[in-house]
Amino acid sequence: MLPGTLPADELTEWLSTTDSAAVMKLGRTFPHVREAFERAGVLDRALYVERATTVGQRTAPLADVDPETVPYFSLALLPSPLTGELPGAEPDPGGGTATGQVVVVGLGPGARYWTTPEAADALACAEVLIGYGPYLDRVPANPRQERFPTDNRVEAERAAHALGLARSGRRVAVVSSGDPGVFAMAAAVLEVAERPEFAGVPVRVVPGLTAAQAVASKVGAPLGHDFCVLSLSDVRKPWDVVLDRLRHAAAADLVIALYNPRSKHRPHQLGEAQQALLEVRAPETVVVVGRDVGGAEERLTVTTLGDLDPETVDMRCLLIIGSSQTRVGPSGLVWTSRTYPG
Ligand code: SAH
Repeated sequence: MLPGTLPADELTEWLSTTDSAAVMKLGRTFPHVREAFERAGVLDRALYVERATTVGQRTAPLADVDPETVPYFSLALLPSPLTGELPGAEPDPGGGTATGQVVVVGLGPGARYWTTPEAADALACAEVLIGYGPYLDRVPANPRQERFPTDNRVEAERAAHALGLARSGRRVAVVSSGDPGVFAMAAAVLEVAERPEFAGVPVRVVPGLTAAQAVASKVGAPLGHDFCVLSLSDVRKPWDVVLDRLRHAAAADLVIALYNPRSKHRPHQLGEAQQALLEVRAPETVVVVGRDVGGAEERLTVTTLGDLDPETVDMRCLLIIGSSQTRVGPSGLVWTSRTYPG
């Protein structure tokens, strides 16, 4: 950080020996600051930023700025040569910089405010976004970024595509909904990253709010005590395993958050799951159905295991099956006691 009020020689000396710099206090000092950048031989990669983040924001190559227009609320930036191409420059078709990485980001369950600041930062820093189309649509447009929307199923190809781009130097964000580690892309990326051709490609996972938390908070605190998270999908595990895990979780009297509860391809399984649970759990067991929580079609239903109608459930729903200690309070809010009998 250098003040523009420094004597020109000193400023030149700093700029010619540093990797990156920010020069503040421009205004009247601008002509000699610009000259210092020129004499240090770095004017061609210097940037100018005025009134950053306000409606009056202006950015430009430092070399193009008319000194007459420079206010006090501005600064000159010397990005490190390692930053790669400057914004607006043609991308290097070979993509050869040392900055390539894959960051796996979760957007949260639907509402914009459920995307964490860390996830928003990671998305903003990416050059390439890869993910299921409707998830990418939730990320604010950025003309600097390339986007590759894909089908929801091709997870391994999507991961390989991301890792390949990162290997050639691109900063890639793989976008999931909710938390990327919960029935989403993070494990898929790590699995593909084990292939020898992707050795050394950095992968980072940024957490997100998962749908179970969002649904739970909308109705109260049903996850207030021990709970488990299961996916009813049998795409990646046999249906027998799903039912077996469900029976064990029910027998252990855990609260169960059920993801992927019912798809068009397997409409009968939720009914079977319900019967398996009813073998162990009372029909009065509290059940919460949250649909599109945080989104435009949000719907929350509190029912019981006996009354649950699988026909009302689709893939945009998440179910919370209460434990024996889950109850509906006088206010209508659902909660699970933190104390267990005995
Ligand atoms: N990674 C996501 C889960 C992906 S699996 C997460 O952490 O939330 C997809 C399933 O998540 C859906 O079938 C549904 O069960 C649940 N889900 C995701 N978003 C939801 C929302 N806004 N409301 C209700 N359920 C949701």
